[in-house]
Amino acid sequence: MSSTTPTTPLAGGLLTSDHRDILAAADEYARNVLFPFQQRMDDEEWWPSEVFPSLGAQGYLGVQAPEAYGGAGLDLLSEGMVGQAISRWNPAVGLSYLAHENLCLGNLLANADDALLQRFAPGLIDGSLVGALGLTEPGAGSDALGGMRTTAVRDGDEYVLNGTKIYITNGPIADVVLVYAKTDLAAGPRGITAFLVETTTPGFSVAQKLIKMGLRGSPTGELLFEDCRVPAANRVGEEGSGVAVVMNGLDRERVCLAFSCLGLAERAIDLTIAYAQDREQFGSAIGSFQMVAAMIAEMYADVESLRSMTLDVATEVGNTAFGVAHQHIATRSAALALVAGNNLMRILDKAVQVHGGMGFMWETEVNRLYRAGKLYEIGAGTNEVRKSIIASNLLATRAR
Ligand SMILES: Cc1cc2nc3c(=O)[nH]c(=O)nc-3n(C[C@H](O)[C@H](O)[C@H](O)COP(=O)(O)OP(=O)(O)OC[C@H]3O[C@@H](n4cnc5c(N)ncnc54)[C@H](O)[C@@H]3O)c2cc1C
Repeated sequence: MSSTTPTTPLAGGLLTSDHRDILAAADEYARNVLFPFQQRMDDEEWWPSEVFPSLGAQGYLGVQAPEAYGGAGLDLLSEGMVGQAISRWNPAVGLSYLAHENLCLGNLLANADDALLQRFAPGLIDGSLVGALGLTEPGAGSDALGGMRTTAVRDGDEYVLNGTKIYITNGPIADVVLVYAKTDLAAGPRGITAFLVETTTPGFSVAQKLIKMGLRGSPTGELLFEDCRVPAANRVGEEGSGVAVVMNGLDRERVCLAFSCLGLAERAIDLTIAYAQDREQFGSAIGSFQMVAAMIAEMYADVESLRSMTLDVATEVGNTAFGVAHQHIATRSAALALVAGNNLMRILDKAVQVHGGMGFMWETEVNRLYRAGKLYEIGAGTNEVRKSIIASNLLATRAR
């Protein structure tokens, strides 16, 4: 099998023919255009600047955006499947896509006013602008809302931002960052407001580009705001509405994260089956040994259970308006992210095991997937945060 031959069925039984077509087209694009970049991106922490314009030209940015802004006007499932295909063939581009398309543009579309969208949505959709989202801070990760120290103080027609954001995907290459800051220190999480900051604004800087163990081609940075003056017109939503922007956005982020996990998982099982067919020991293909075959069977079961749950939760979340039935949606999307991260790491562990010493080698694709996969148990709320959300919602809502 050539290293790029697709072998896993790409769609689940729940998909319509339109969705199947979107997935198949995105998969072909990602295989032909993005896969060739992945080794150099990982080796050199290199970001190919043509990627976002190429995604834009292909119609893969603004998948859910209204056509009036240049978007495709499709649904969450379609956006997720584009991310699935991209992550399958180039996980680092998959992460940068998630940050741009879902975290930045998706939250803007749901919360910004038309004037702000007129200014920035077309550029984010054609790929001439790169987006990021800045929530996490050095002292505020899992407790991002409670521990937030970044402030925004109103001064006439501007807000003055001061603070530090860390681990920000696309931070070093972004043109705009959706930033959360406290406009009312006394109000706790209710005092948080979202702003769209242009990275050319004086007072904004990239303090450092961070070196990662995986997804190395996706640029991650620490961002500094030092008396950074942002026009009041760049405020996203009302003052103090940041917590709602974060919470609703996280549900959709967790759904898109699951699609990314699915893409990585599909690629891992494809590579593993091919290796088990080709590699011979004791005079036989290693796939003929029952213990190796069992690993492949378990990987398959994990891929398919993840696929079913992803499609089901994505359909429900996509059909639910922002802010509606939030506790139910938050519980299901947190459970999906938990299953996605756990299944993916089980799959990747077996993928490396079947590859033996070859799987431990840095330059192999399966090793790159293994190093990438761990993020999906940490980002968008860690496994422990996901469990806390699920359990606290269930315990609070079930009648005794
Ligand atoms: C590659 C990468 C890209 C990222 N991209 C972005 C981005 O684009 N934008 C952004 O804003 N952020 C981003 N993040 C940040 C990410 O969301 C945080 O790393 C994550 O939320 C965890 O925060 P933390 O790293 O501070 O860990 P901590 O919160 O310090 O957690 C450390 C450990 O303690 C556990 N823990 C903490 N609190 C509890 C609790 N109450 N109960 C049980 N266990 C607990 C955690 O589960 C974890 O195991 C990114 C991170 C990475 C690694």
